[in-house]
Amino acid sequence: MAEYIPYGRQYIDDDDIAEVVKTLKSDWLTTGPGVERFEKAVCEYTGAGYGIAVSSGTAALHAMMYAIGVKEGDEVIVPTMTFAATANAVLYCGGKPVFTDIEAETLLMDVKQVEEKISEKTKAIIAMDYGGQPADYDELRRIADKRKLILLADACHSLGAEYKGRMAGTLADASVFSFHPVKHITTGEGGMVLSDDAEYAARAKIFRNHGITSDHHKRQLAGTWYYEMTDLGMNYRLNDIQCALGCSQLKKLPGFLQRRREIAEIYDKFFAGNQKIRPLKVEPGNNPSYHLYVVKLYLEGTGIDRQEVFVRLRNAGIGVNVHYLPVHLHPYYQQKLGTCRGMFPNSEEAYERIISLPMFPGMDNGMVQRVCDEINKAVK
Ligand SMILES: *Cc1c(COP(=O)(O)O)cnc(C)c1O
Repeated sequence: MAEYIPYGRQYIDDDDIAEVVKTLKSDWLTTGPGVERFEKAVCEYTGAGYGIAVSSGTAALHAMMYAIGVKEGDEVIVPTMTFAATANAVLYCGGKPVFTDIEAETLLMDVKQVEEKISEKTKAIIAMDYGGQPADYDELRRIADKRKLILLADACHSLGAEYKGRMAGTLADASVFSFHPVKHITTGEGGMVLSDDAEYAARAKIFRNHGITSDHHKRQLAGTWYYEMTDLGMNYRLNDIQCALGCSQLKKLPGFLQRRREIAEIYDKFFAGNQKIRPLKVEPGNNPSYHLYVVKLYLEGTGIDRQEVFVRLRNAGIGVNVHYLPVHLHPYYQQKLGTCRGMFPNSEEAYERIISLPMFPGMDNGMVQRVCDEINKAVK
């Protein structure tokens, strides 16, 4: 039986391991110089003004909601085709996620619906760069400015992506990345909030450390024991061990991205003109970073469905996946917000058709070809 190919997998080499070991032998295991080093490196890479490293992408979303001051009674507009964490973060702060549908061909937030969903309670819009393709930030910016809303990005899929020549992480008033092992670079678990806004950055930073105004490292440098808690925060710190891995991984990001884009090109060519297996559309001006490679299956009249294709591929050792069950269909959300099937037809239709194919920098051409051959076989 051929080797199982997962849909995503981290790439860790001896340099990464050496950097982690170096940190383990140093004085700083938690918040030391490595955290700032990693934050600075991500800021340099993306061009963002401030970066606040936190313990996960979910923590980053929560810190971002806190940073912009989401509170009870506020509404935040979110696409329903996203990972639940995007909407959960709004709930953590007592706000209400208000969902929009997506464009059928890109699975990106339907910008026209954003405008329709704005009320007096709306505080912010969170776009999500599905699969690694940036949302339509020019249009979102126009709407946000017109209605005096804060524009945010869940950029967990899009580290390294470009929108009209601008880097993901700089496309909104604040953005978040995740460093989970399936994402572009990993720190085991980890995340970051990015912004050019000094106040948002300061608030996110305080939030990650219990709402306390100075961290241990700074206190030690200042030679003072004093600290005070000014607001209710969390322990969302990312540690020096993780940041050492992050810095080392970031050096390899250009190579990772190049390989992801090469794999996408092979898939694109293979599926070109195929009516049954259709890759997502890439909008002009977008250079996606391909966190995922998603195809939509059009199997009407073939006698098989997505579930059957999924099972056949899994049985053939191809680790396909489905991203995502739209958030409004999760039982928790149906109960909490009264959402139901039929509310967002494009997302619901996409959910029935999509399948995420293996996509990670360690895939060689032979593995990509095996995925192509198996999916062709599976839809017959
Ligand atoms: C991965 C991901 C998150 C959460 O990141 P974690 O680091 O796993 O907490 C949030 N939103 C999206 C769109 C993601 O893909």
